[in-house]
Amino acid sequence: MQLKPSVQGLLCNTITVVVRISSRCNLACDYCYAKTSNASGSTSSFMASETASLVCEQFLSLPVKQVDFNWHGGEPLLSDPTVLRNALQTQHRLLMGGSAPATNKVQTNGTRFSDEWLSLLCEYPIDIGISLDGPARFHNRHRSVTDERPSSCHDDVMANMAKLRQIGLPFGTLLVITEDMAAAAKEIFDFVTDEQLSVDLLPCFCQGPLGEVVPPSIHPYSLARFVKEYFDQWIRHPDPPTCRILEDMLGGIIGIKPSTCAYRHHCHAFYSVDTDGRLYPCDLFLGQPDMCLGDLHSESLLSILRSPRTAAILSSITTLPDDCNKCNWLAACGGGCSAHRIGRTLDSAGRYYFCGARKSIFQHLEKFIVSNECLFSPAKTAIRRRP
Ligand code: SF4
Ligand code: SF4
Repeated sequence: MQLKPSVQGLLCNTITVVVRISSRCNLACDYCYAKTSNASGSTSSFMASETASLVCEQFLSLPVKQVDFNWHGGEPLLSDPTVLRNALQTQHRLLMGGSAPATNKVQTNGTRFSDEWLSLLCEYPIDIGISLDGPARFHNRHRSVTDERPSSCHDDVMANMAKLRQIGLPFGTLLVITEDMAAAAKEIFDFVTDEQLSVDLLPCFCQGPLGEVVPPSIHPYSLARFVKEYFDQWIRHPDPPTCRILEDMLGGIIGIKPSTCAYRHHCHAFYSVDTDGRLYPCDLFLGQPDMCLGDLHSESLLSILRSPRTAAILSSITTLPDDCNKCNWLAACGGGCSAHRIGRTLDSAGRYYFCGARKSIFQHLEKFIVSNECLFSPAKTAIRRRP
Protein backbone atom coordinates (compact mmCIF):
# COMPACT_ATOMS: atom_id res chain seq x y z
CA MET A 1 0.00 0.00 0.00
CA GLN A 2 1.32 3.45 -0.97
CA LEU A 3 1.11 5.89 1.97
CA LYS A 4 0.05 9.50 1.38
CA PRO A 5 3.12 11.79 1.40
CA SER A 6 1.70 13.79 4.33
CA VAL A 7 1.48 10.56 6.36
CA GLN A 8 4.97 9.52 5.24
CA GLY A 9 6.14 12.87 6.68
CA LEU A 10 4.73 11.92 10.07
CA LEU A 11 6.64 8.63 9.95
CA CYS A 12 9.97 10.36 9.34
CA ASN A 13 12.46 10.53 12.16
CA THR A 14 13.05 14.21 11.49
CA ILE A 15 10.86 17.00 10.18
CA THR A 16 12.33 20.32 9.06
CA VAL A 17 10.40 23.56 9.22
CA VAL A 18 11.62 26.80 7.71
CA VAL A 19 10.10 29.63 9.70
CA ARG A 20 10.03 32.99 8.00
CA ILE A 21 10.33 35.42 10.89
CA SER A 22 10.92 38.45 8.66
CA SER A 23 9.71 39.03 5.12
CA ARG A 24 11.81 42.23 5.03
CA CYS A 25 15.38 42.24 3.83
CA ASN A 26 18.03 44.93 3.71
CA LEU A 27 19.43 43.46 0.46
CA ALA A 28 17.99 43.27 -3.05
CA CYS A 29 19.64 40.15 -4.50
CA ASP A 30 18.87 39.66 -8.18
CA TYR A 31 17.94 35.97 -7.76
CA CYS A 32 15.90 36.34 -4.57
CA TYR A 33 12.84 34.08 -4.53
CA ALA A 34 11.40 36.10 -1.62
CA LYS A 35 10.46 38.80 -4.14
CA THR A 36 7.82 36.47 -5.54
CA SER A 37 6.92 34.85 -2.24
CA ASN A 38 6.36 38.32 -0.73
CA ALA A 39 3.51 38.76 -3.19
CA SER A 40 1.57 36.14 -1.23
CA GLY A 41 -0.37 38.75 0.69
CA SER A 42 0.95 37.97 4.18
CA THR A 43 -0.19 40.91 6.25
CA SER A 44 2.83 40.89 8.59
CA SER A 45 6.40 41.85 7.72
CA PHE A 46 7.65 40.23 10.94
CA MET A 47 6.40 37.12 12.72
CA ALA A 48 4.79 37.85 16.08
CA SER A 49 6.22 36.14 19.14
CA GLU A 50 2.92 34.27 19.72
CA THR A 51 3.05 32.88 16.17
CA ALA A 52 6.69 31.72 16.53
CA SER A 53 5.83 29.97 19.80
CA LEU A 54 2.70 28.45 18.22
CA VAL A 55 4.86 27.05 15.40
CA CYS A 56 7.15 25.41 18.00
CA GLU A 57 4.20 23.99 19.95
CA GLN A 58 2.50 22.58 16.84
CA PHE A 59 5.59 21.00 15.29
CA LEU A 60 6.87 19.60 18.57
CA SER A 61 3.50 17.92 19.14
CA LEU A 62 4.02 15.73 16.05
CA PRO A 63 4.97 12.07 16.64
CA VAL A 64 8.48 12.46 15.21
CA LYS A 65 11.92 11.95 16.77
CA GLN A 66 13.30 15.44 16.05
CA VAL A 67 12.21 18.77 14.62
CA ASP A 68 14.77 21.00 12.88
CA PHE A 69 13.75 24.66 12.98
CA ASN A 70 15.36 26.86 10.35
CA TRP A 71 14.74 30.55 11.17
CA HIS A 72 14.67 32.36 7.86
CA GLY A 73 13.60 35.50 6.02
CA GLY A 74 13.78 37.90 4.13
CA GLU A 75 16.55 38.62 6.57
CA PRO A 76 15.82 37.02 9.96
CA LEU A 77 18.30 39.22 11.84
CA LEU A 78 16.15 42.28 11.05
CA SER A 79 13.52 40.92 13.41
CA ASP A 80 13.42 41.43 17.16
CA PRO A 81 15.66 38.74 18.76
CA THR A 82 13.11 38.43 21.56
CA VAL A 83 10.85 36.55 19.12
CA LEU A 84 13.41 33.77 18.71
CA ARG A 85 14.37 33.90 22.39
CA ASN A 86 10.73 33.31 23.39
CA ALA A 87 10.40 30.52 20.82
CA LEU A 88 13.51 28.79 22.22
CA GLN A 89 12.10 29.09 25.73
CA THR A 90 8.86 27.49 24.47
CA GLN A 91 10.91 24.64 22.97
CA HIS A 92 12.74 24.18 26.27
CA ARG A 93 9.45 24.05 28.22
CA LEU A 94 8.04 21.45 25.79
CA LEU A 95 11.21 19.37 25.96
CA MET A 96 10.88 19.29 29.77
CA GLY A 97 7.33 18.01 29.19
CA GLY A 98 8.69 15.13 27.07
CA SER A 99 8.39 16.48 23.51
CA ALA A 100 10.82 15.54 20.73
CA PRO A 101 14.11 17.47 20.81
CA ALA A 102 14.63 20.42 18.49
CA THR A 103 17.59 21.83 16.61
CA ASN A 104 17.76 25.45 15.49
CA LYS A 105 19.49 27.25 12.65
CA VAL A 106 19.47 30.86 11.48
CA GLN A 107 20.07 31.49 7.76
CA THR A 108 21.28 35.06 7.30
CA ASN A 109 22.76 37.33 4.65
CA GLY A 110 25.54 38.02 7.16
CA THR A 111 25.35 41.81 7.05
CA ARG A 112 23.57 42.48 10.35
CA PHE A 113 24.71 41.01 13.65
CA SER A 114 23.50 43.36 16.36
CA ASP A 115 24.85 42.93 19.91
CA GLU A 116 21.44 41.52 20.95
CA TRP A 117 21.52 38.90 18.21
CA LEU A 118 25.13 37.99 18.97
CA SER A 119 24.33 37.52 22.62
CA LEU A 120 21.37 35.24 21.74
CA LEU A 121 23.55 33.22 19.35
CA CYS A 122 26.19 32.84 22.08
CA GLU A 123 23.60 31.84 24.67
CA TYR A 124 21.81 29.07 22.71
CA PRO A 125 23.12 26.27 20.46
CA ILE A 126 21.89 27.80 17.18
CA ASP A 127 23.62 26.87 13.91
CA ILE A 128 24.47 29.83 11.72
CA GLY A 129 24.29 29.72 7.92
CA ILE A 130 25.61 32.69 5.96
CA SER A 131 24.85 33.36 2.30
CA LEU A 132 28.15 34.12 0.61
CA ASP A 133 28.64 33.81 -3.15
CA GLY A 134 32.40 33.32 -3.16
CA PRO A 135 34.81 36.14 -3.98
CA ALA A 136 33.66 39.78 -3.99
CA ARG A 137 33.37 40.02 -7.79
CA PHE A 138 30.54 37.43 -7.82
CA HIS A 139 28.95 38.21 -4.47
CA ASN A 140 28.69 41.96 -5.09
CA ARG A 141 27.28 41.45 -8.58
CA HIS A 142 24.28 39.50 -7.30
CA ARG A 143 23.91 40.44 -3.65
CA SER A 144 23.44 44.13 -3.13
CA VAL A 145 22.01 46.63 -0.65
CA THR A 146 20.06 48.35 -3.43
CA ASP A 147 19.45 47.67 -7.10
CA GLU A 148 22.75 49.46 -7.76
CA ARG A 149 25.41 46.91 -8.74
CA PRO A 150 28.11 45.94 -8.08
CA SER A 151 27.72 46.64 -4.37
CA SER A 152 30.25 46.44 -1.57
CA CYS A 153 28.32 44.19 0.80
CA HIS A 154 30.94 41.40 0.52
CA ASP A 155 33.15 43.50 2.85
CA ASP A 156 30.40 43.59 5.50
CA VAL A 157 29.90 39.82 5.36
CA MET A 158 33.64 39.08 5.56
CA ALA A 159 34.00 41.48 8.52
CA ASN A 160 31.09 39.80 10.32
CA MET A 161 32.51 36.33 9.66
CA ALA A 162 35.79 37.50 11.22
CA LYS A 163 33.81 38.77 14.22
CA LEU A 164 32.00 35.42 14.60
CA ARG A 165 35.33 33.59 14.50
CA GLN A 166 36.77 35.96 17.09
CA ILE A 167 33.96 35.23 19.55
CA GLY A 168 34.04 31.50 18.78
CA LEU A 169 30.74 31.10 16.92
CA PRO A 170 31.01 28.50 14.12
CA PHE A 171 29.10 29.01 10.88
CA GLY A 172 28.58 27.42 7.47
CA THR A 173 28.08 29.18 4.15
CA LEU A 174 25.66 28.79 1.27
CA LEU A 175 26.94 29.63 -2.21
CA VAL A 176 24.48 30.17 -5.07
CA ILE A 177 26.05 29.15 -8.39
CA THR A 178 25.04 31.58 -11.13
CA GLU A 179 25.73 31.41 -14.88
CA ASP A 180 28.67 33.83 -14.64
CA MET A 181 30.48 31.37 -12.32
CA ALA A 182 30.46 28.52 -14.86
CA ALA A 183 34.15 28.93 -15.76
CA ALA A 184 35.30 30.01 -12.28
CA ALA A 185 35.21 26.78 -10.27
CA LYS A 186 38.94 26.90 -9.46
CA GLU A 187 38.83 30.55 -8.41
CA ILE A 188 35.87 29.84 -6.15
CA PHE A 189 37.43 26.68 -4.71
CA ASP A 190 40.65 28.61 -3.94
CA PHE A 191 38.58 31.28 -2.18
CA VAL A 192 36.74 28.64 -0.14
CA THR A 193 39.96 26.95 0.96
CA ASP A 194 41.83 30.23 1.63
CA GLU A 195 38.96 31.38 3.84
CA GLN A 196 38.58 27.90 5.41
CA LEU A 197 34.85 27.79 4.75
CA SER A 198 32.42 24.92 4.80
CA VAL A 199 30.13 25.41 1.83
CA ASP A 200 26.81 24.21 0.50
CA LEU A 201 26.48 24.77 -3.26
CA LEU A 202 23.05 25.66 -4.62
CA PRO A 203 22.30 26.07 -8.35
CA CYS A 204 20.61 29.37 -9.16
CA PHE A 205 17.13 28.77 -10.55
CA CYS A 206 14.79 31.69 -11.29
CA GLN A 207 11.56 31.59 -13.25
CA GLY A 208 9.73 34.34 -15.09
CA PRO A 209 5.98 34.94 -15.05
CA LEU A 210 5.30 32.20 -17.65
CA GLY A 211 7.46 29.66 -15.84
CA GLU A 212 10.41 30.26 -18.16
CA VAL A 213 13.91 30.01 -16.65
CA VAL A 214 15.48 33.46 -16.50
CA PRO A 215 18.91 34.97 -15.63
CA PRO A 216 20.95 34.75 -13.51
CA SER A 217 19.95 31.04 -13.40
CA ILE A 218 22.72 28.67 -14.32
CA HIS A 219 22.25 26.55 -17.45
CA PRO A 220 22.43 22.78 -16.81
CA TYR A 221 25.47 22.50 -19.09
CA SER A 222 27.26 25.25 -17.13
CA LEU A 223 26.28 23.67 -13.82
CA ALA A 224 27.79 20.35 -14.91
CA ARG A 225 31.00 22.10 -15.96
CA PHE A 226 31.26 24.04 -12.70
CA VAL A 227 30.56 21.10 -10.37
CA LYS A 228 32.91 18.72 -12.22
CA GLU A 229 35.77 21.23 -12.12
CA TYR A 230 35.03 22.05 -8.48
CA PHE A 231 35.02 18.31 -7.69
CA ASP A 232 38.38 17.81 -9.42
CA GLN A 233 39.89 20.45 -7.13
CA TRP A 234 38.05 19.24 -4.04
CA ILE A 235 38.86 15.52 -4.30
CA ARG A 236 42.59 16.18 -4.75
CA HIS A 237 42.88 18.64 -1.88
CA PRO A 238 44.74 17.22 1.15
CA ASP A 239 42.09 18.57 3.53
CA PRO A 240 38.95 19.17 1.44
CA PRO A 241 36.42 21.58 2.93
CA THR A 242 32.94 20.23 3.70
CA CYS A 243 30.76 20.28 0.58
CA ARG A 244 27.49 18.48 1.14
CA ILE A 245 26.40 18.13 -2.48
CA LEU A 246 29.66 16.47 -3.50
CA GLU A 247 29.57 14.25 -0.42
CA ASP A 248 25.94 13.35 -1.20
CA MET A 249 26.63 12.62 -4.86
CA LEU A 250 29.72 10.51 -4.17
CA GLY A 251 27.98 8.77 -1.28
CA GLY A 252 24.86 8.18 -3.38
CA ILE A 253 26.88 6.34 -6.03
CA ILE A 254 28.38 4.00 -3.46
CA GLY A 255 25.05 3.41 -1.72
CA ILE A 256 25.22 5.84 1.21
CA LYS A 257 21.98 7.66 2.00
CA PRO A 258 22.34 11.34 1.05
CA SER A 259 21.83 13.99 3.73
CA THR A 260 20.19 16.71 1.64
CA CYS A 261 16.56 16.68 0.58
CA ALA A 262 17.31 17.36 -3.09
CA TYR A 263 19.08 13.97 -3.30
CA ARG A 264 16.73 12.05 -1.02
CA HIS A 265 13.34 12.60 -2.62
CA HIS A 266 12.31 13.77 0.81
CA CYS A 267 10.06 16.81 0.27
CA HIS A 268 7.34 15.27 2.46
CA ALA A 269 9.48 16.02 5.54
CA PHE A 270 9.92 19.74 4.79
CA TYR A 271 7.48 22.51 5.63
CA SER A 272 7.58 26.28 5.88
CA VAL A 273 5.54 28.86 7.75
CA ASP A 274 5.01 32.44 6.60
CA THR A 275 5.17 35.42 8.98
CA ASP A 276 1.38 35.29 9.44
CA GLY A 277 1.26 31.59 10.39
CA ARG A 278 0.24 30.14 7.03
CA LEU A 279 1.74 26.73 6.31
CA TYR A 280 3.33 25.64 3.03
CA PRO A 281 5.48 22.72 1.88
CA CYS A 282 9.24 23.53 1.69
CA ASP A 283 10.10 27.25 1.66
CA LEU A 284 10.76 27.17 -2.09
CA PHE A 285 6.94 27.11 -2.39
CA LEU A 286 6.34 29.60 0.41
CA GLY A 287 3.90 32.36 -0.51
CA GLN A 288 2.48 30.59 -3.60
CA PRO A 289 -1.28 30.77 -2.99
CA ASP A 290 -2.02 27.42 -4.70
CA MET A 291 0.55 25.73 -2.42
CA CYS A 292 -0.82 27.02 0.89
CA LEU A 293 -1.73 24.07 3.12
CA GLY A 294 -3.60 25.99 5.84
CA ASP A 295 -3.33 28.53 8.64
CA LEU A 296 -1.86 27.46 12.00
CA HIS A 297 -3.93 30.16 13.73
CA SER A 298 -7.19 28.57 12.70
CA GLU A 299 -6.41 24.83 12.48
CA SER A 300 -4.06 22.41 14.17
CA LEU A 301 -0.97 21.30 12.27
CA LEU A 302 -2.00 17.66 12.56
CA SER A 303 -5.39 18.27 11.00
CA ILE A 304 -3.82 20.33 8.18
CA LEU A 305 -1.35 17.52 7.49
CA ARG A 306 -4.17 14.96 7.39
CA SER A 307 -6.35 16.99 5.01
CA PRO A 308 -7.04 15.89 1.41
CA ARG A 309 -5.70 19.28 0.21
CA THR A 310 -2.30 18.61 1.83
CA ALA A 311 -2.27 15.10 0.39
CA ALA A 312 -2.93 16.47 -3.12
CA ILE A 313 -0.30 19.22 -2.88
CA LEU A 314 2.38 16.99 -1.40
CA SER A 315 1.69 14.29 -3.91
CA SER A 316 2.20 16.84 -6.71
CA ILE A 317 5.72 17.57 -5.48
CA THR A 318 6.70 14.07 -4.42
CA THR A 319 5.50 12.23 -7.53
CA LEU A 320 8.56 11.64 -9.69
CA PRO A 321 8.68 12.32 -13.43
CA ASP A 322 8.43 9.10 -15.50
CA ASP A 323 12.03 9.54 -16.71
CA CYS A 324 13.27 9.31 -13.11
CA ASN A 325 11.44 6.06 -12.44
CA LYS A 326 13.34 4.49 -15.36
CA CYS A 327 16.70 6.14 -14.59
CA ASN A 328 19.78 4.20 -13.42
CA TRP A 329 20.83 7.15 -11.26
CA LEU A 330 17.59 7.36 -9.28
CA ALA A 331 18.99 5.91 -6.04
CA ALA A 332 21.80 8.46 -5.99
CA CYS A 333 19.88 11.38 -7.47
CA GLY A 334 16.44 11.14 -5.86
CA GLY A 335 14.94 12.91 -8.88
CA GLY A 336 16.23 16.38 -7.96
CA CYS A 337 14.56 19.26 -6.19
CA SER A 338 10.82 19.37 -6.86
CA ALA A 339 10.88 23.17 -6.92
CA HIS A 340 13.28 23.07 -9.86
CA ARG A 341 10.94 21.18 -12.17
CA ILE A 342 9.66 22.74 -15.36
CA GLY A 343 5.98 22.29 -16.13
CA ARG A 344 5.08 20.89 -12.70
CA THR A 345 1.37 21.27 -11.89
CA LEU A 346 -0.99 19.54 -9.49
CA ASP A 347 -1.53 16.94 -12.23
CA SER A 348 1.89 16.70 -13.82
CA ALA A 349 5.28 15.93 -12.27
CA GLY A 350 7.05 18.10 -14.88
CA ARG A 351 10.74 17.69 -15.70
CA TYR A 352 13.77 18.36 -13.46
CA TYR A 353 15.59 21.29 -15.03
CA PHE A 354 19.08 20.14 -13.98
CA CYS A 355 18.59 16.46 -14.92
CA GLY A 356 21.21 16.57 -17.71
CA ALA A 357 23.70 18.22 -15.34
CA ARG A 358 23.18 15.55 -12.72
CA LYS A 359 23.70 12.70 -15.18
CA SER A 360 26.89 14.29 -16.45
CA ILE A 361 28.22 14.90 -12.92
CA PHE A 362 27.34 11.36 -11.77
CA GLN A 363 29.19 9.92 -14.76
CA HIS A 364 32.24 12.06 -13.95
CA LEU A 365 32.23 10.98 -10.31
CA GLU A 366 31.70 7.33 -11.22
CA LYS A 367 34.66 7.45 -13.58
CA PHE A 368 36.78 8.84 -10.75
CA ILE A 369 35.61 6.11 -8.37
CA VAL A 370 36.32 3.34 -10.86
CA SER A 371 39.81 4.65 -11.63
CA ASN A 372 40.70 5.02 -7.94
CA GLU A 373 40.07 1.46 -6.91
CA CYS A 374 42.14 1.52 -3.74
CA LEU A 375 40.12 4.45 -2.37
CA PHE A 376 36.73 3.20 -3.42
CA SER A 377 36.71 -0.59 -3.67
CA PRO A 378 33.29 -0.91 -1.95
CA ALA A 379 32.02 1.69 -4.41
CA LYS A 380 32.97 -0.39 -7.42
CA THR A 381 31.03 -3.33 -6.07
CA ALA A 382 27.99 -1.09 -5.58
CA ILE A 383 28.36 0.31 -9.08
CA ARG A 384 28.53 -3.18 -10.62
CA ARG A 385 25.33 -4.05 -8.78
CA ARG A 386 23.45 -1.16 -10.40
CA PRO A 387 20.89 -2.26 -13.03
S1 SF4 B 1 19.31 11.97 -13.34
FE1 SF4 B 1 17.48 12.95 -14.15
S2 SF4 B 1 16.12 11.24 -14.76
FE2 SF4 B 1 17.71 10.42 -13.40
S3 SF4 B 1 16.79 10.43 -11.35
FE3 SF4 B 1 17.97 12.35 -11.60
S4 SF4 B 1 16.50 13.86 -12.37
FE4 SF4 B 1 15.57 11.84 -12.65
S1 SF4 C 1 11.36 21.17 -2.93
FE1 SF4 C 1 13.57 20.97 -3.16
S2 SF4 C 1 14.48 22.14 -1.45
FE2 SF4 C 1 12.31 21.78 -1.00
S3 SF4 C 1 12.27 19.89 0.22
FE3 SF4 C 1 11.94 19.31 -1.89
S4 SF4 C 1 13.99 18.82 -2.66
FE4 SF4 C 1 14.26 20.02 -0.78
